[in-house]
Amino acid sequence: MTYQALQIEKDDAGYRCTLKTLDDSALPEGDVTLQVDFSTVNYKDGLAITGKSPVVRKFPLTPGIDLSGTVTESQHPLFKAGDQVVLNGWGVGESHSGGLAQKARLKGDWLVKLPAAFTPRQAMAIGTAGYTAMLCVMALQKHGVTPDKGDILVTGAGGGVGSVAIALLAKLGYRVVASTGRLQEADYLRQLGAADVMDRAELSAPGKPLAKERWAGVVDTVGSHTLANACASTKYGGVVTACGLAQGMDFPSSVAPFILRSVTLAGIDSVMAPRAVREAAWARLAQDLDTTQLERMTREVGLADAIGLGAEILAGQVRGRVVVNVNR
Ligand code: NDP
Repeated sequence: MTYQALQIEKDDAGYRCTLKTLDDSALPEGDVTLQVDFSTVNYKDGLAITGKSPVVRKFPLTPGIDLSGTVTESQHPLFKAGDQVVLNGWGVGESHSGGLAQKARLKGDWLVKLPAAFTPRQAMAIGTAGYTAMLCVMALQKHGVTPDKGDILVTGAGGGVGSVAIALLAKLGYRVVASTGRLQEADYLRQLGAADVMDRAELSAPGKPLAKERWAGVVDTVGSHTLANACASTKYGGVVTACGLAQGMDFPSSVAPFILRSVTLAGIDSVMAPRAVREAAWARLAQDLDTTQLERMTREVGLADAIGLGAEILAGQVRGRVVVNVNR
């Protein structure tokens, strides 16, 4: 039996990602085999597809850090043939072949059941970006940021994590300020629920250790000077959630916001989050994400199209979410 898959190879001929027809014998080890329904293109998939950062640790490898699919074979006690499941992270698409394929074989311990509220396509319209946005929102709430405390800044607002974060926060009654390099997308960001849109240039250059207090909370997807400036302009007792590095991995900040304004910097990792955290995040997505907004931020492409989108997402040219129909 064969299946279609993207495959990354690295050898004397260079680093490349191509669409291939693979034999089932190419599937990696695992106790659950799946028919993949949908995958997506996340920022990390862009890094893997292009080879811009060394996120792929094994060759050849199928990229795709997330997928929704239907179990065809299982030796895992929690899953049986016919179950619909979702996978995010766990090194899939980095060191274990991933979701940008028609079939996958994984560890059952990595899977969660598809929430009843979502179709397989909706689950991947959300994808790792949306699940991470929910983790950020949950962290803000855990640290006591309620809508009455003031504005929430969302950086990288036009991207996947940013778009879902805006929709979630607005539905929960927060006043959201969206920071973007694409001011031409202001109407899109307002439709998702942003009350205000600001030019990301205001945050992306080196700034002062402390600035005017503006934010009760922050969802930062870009890191670097933007994260430093977001911390510097967070109000006394506010909370900054850091999940991304689209501007850079560096954090050129000072301790001033933490020791003089009691600002909390909350790190967000989706990849190794334990099952209970994942299930809680997916349950909250089912409750708090407006599926009309999800559709507004999503476009669908076929498997081969994901290759070109890898470079586009790294260039900040992808708006919202891209869902990949691997059978198209
Ligand atoms: P996207 O590419 O969809 O969104 C990133 C957005 O950041 C872009 O759309 C753009 O928004 C903005 N941006 C891009 N380049 C720059 C730059 N040089 N300076 C400032 N802003 C920039 O990616 P995702 O939403 O999928 O992921 C966002 C980040 O979160 C990535 O760094 C990703 O690796 C990380 N991530 C982390 C996870 C975790 O577990 N911690 C899980 C998922 C994602 P605009 O045009 O509106 O300014």
